[in-house]
Amino acid sequence: MSTKNYNTRTAGQAKIPVLGLGTWRSKGQDCIDIVSQALKMGYEHIDTAQAYSNEVEVGKGIKQSGVARDKLFLTTKIFPDDMKFEPEKLKAAAKRSLENLDTDYVDLLLLHWPDDRVPLSKTIPALCELQKQGLTRHIGVSNFNIANIIEAKKYADVPIVVNQVEFHPFIKQNTLQTFLHNHHILLEAYSPLAHGDVFNNDVIKEIADKHGVTPAQVSLAWILSDKDRIAIPKTSNPNHLQGNLDAIKVQLSADELAKIDRLARSDGRQIEHPDYKPEWDD
Ligand code: NAP
Repeated sequence: MSTKNYNTRTAGQAKIPVLGLGTWRSKGQDCIDIVSQALKMGYEHIDTAQAYSNEVEVGKGIKQSGVARDKLFLTTKIFPDDMKFEPEKLKAAAKRSLENLDTDYVDLLLLHWPDDRVPLSKTIPALCELQKQGLTRHIGVSNFNIANIIEAKKYADVPIVVNQVEFHPFIKQNTLQTFLHNHHILLEAYSPLAHGDVFNNDVIKEIADKHGVTPAQVSLAWILSDKDRIAIPKTSNPNHLQGNLDAIKVQLSADELAKIDRLARSDGRQIEHPDYKPEWDD
């Protein structure tokens, strides 16, 4: 894809626009419209997943926008229910996503969560095969801890370009970040606004007031201040779209970044899988 409006970060051969639109809980016509509006406004990166049950709407939103497919970085994820990480099921699931999204390929295909029931020695070669067949341009993982990634890399003969994990000012991910940096894998921050908690934090509010920007923009600017991170804030509200995108222009001082760094808590995680409890790195 070619990008014109905003920055990209590179991992392997992937050039990923630094800020994408998250779509978890976006539904129906609202989802179609927000995806379409975002793309018309200049977003070039959309994040969806089979588990969000909105791939069809995301696909319709892309069509409605009139934006050419190759001007957009599109991610989906395969959830490990129904033993979908068995190679044949994984391939079938990826094809189903493409049908839902009404596209010939995605730019990034992620394993949504680790799955103890199917060894990565089986799943990862199948995921790599999907890239070689052109169904996805790049592959990655989500909610993987360091041990999971070390295991995955043993079986990958193409680069794993991102690990999509919960990341915002209130969660510690220092060990994971150092590991990802050393292995040239981008940290893709999900829940980058901590589901709205950033709006109520005094440190973030004070910095936002000083810059004349919103707490959402401060949180996103802080995430993007590190060249190994990208972010996918979700909104279904057209009034929030432009501001979130404009966060890429906000520059925080070293002192402000350090103040936000100090907000991380060991109990700051908000998202857990209902059944699978990974050993999280801090
Ligand atoms: P989030 O982006 O941290 O927060 C979304 C919430 O913030 C929504 O309630 C949204 O409400 C609100 N919001 C957004 N921009 C705002 C603004 N400028 N002002 C005020 N409120 C604002 O949470 P998230 O949806 O959990 O994470 C983002 C994306 O990451 C998801 O949509 C999904 O694509 C991905 N994700 C992935 C995983 C995974 O397991 N891989 C897990 C969770 C999320 P409005 O809609 O009203 O604006």
